[in-house]
Amino acid sequence: MKSKEARNRKLEEIREIAAGWGKIIAREAFPEGPGLDVSLAEMEEVAMAASRALVRGTVEAMTGSQGEKLGDEAACPTCGKQCRLKTAARPMVVRGGEATLAEPVGHCPRCRRDFFPAAAGVED
Ligand SMILES: [Zn+2]
Repeated sequence: MKSKEARNRKLEEIREIAAGWGKIIAREAFPEGPGLDVSLAEMEEVAMAASRALVRGTVEAMTGSQGEKLGDEAACPTCGKQCRLKTAARPMVVRGGEATLAEPVGHCPRCRRDFFPAAAGVED
């Protein structure tokens, strides 16, 4: 995602795709269509459950992909030794829901410390 225009175009495409998924969710929740006894609040409950799950799945997929780009090792920020990275589950509240991030974490045996190489700024 480079320019603001390209980003806005992509976001509009994503909104259209997600709105289509709303129809799928509605059919899943009420295969015969919602009865006349189903309130708007009940419909919102289904929509919000789907929305929160969509936020979780999207954020977890994207942060997981960033974490993979860091590779298997990273330099200790204190001594510079290359250290093996593992991932630690990190529950987070994000806009529109919650997600459990697979956060890369390194442990330097020389410094006896853990460190968290940031994925931000990693390019393809
Ligand atoms: Zn170190």
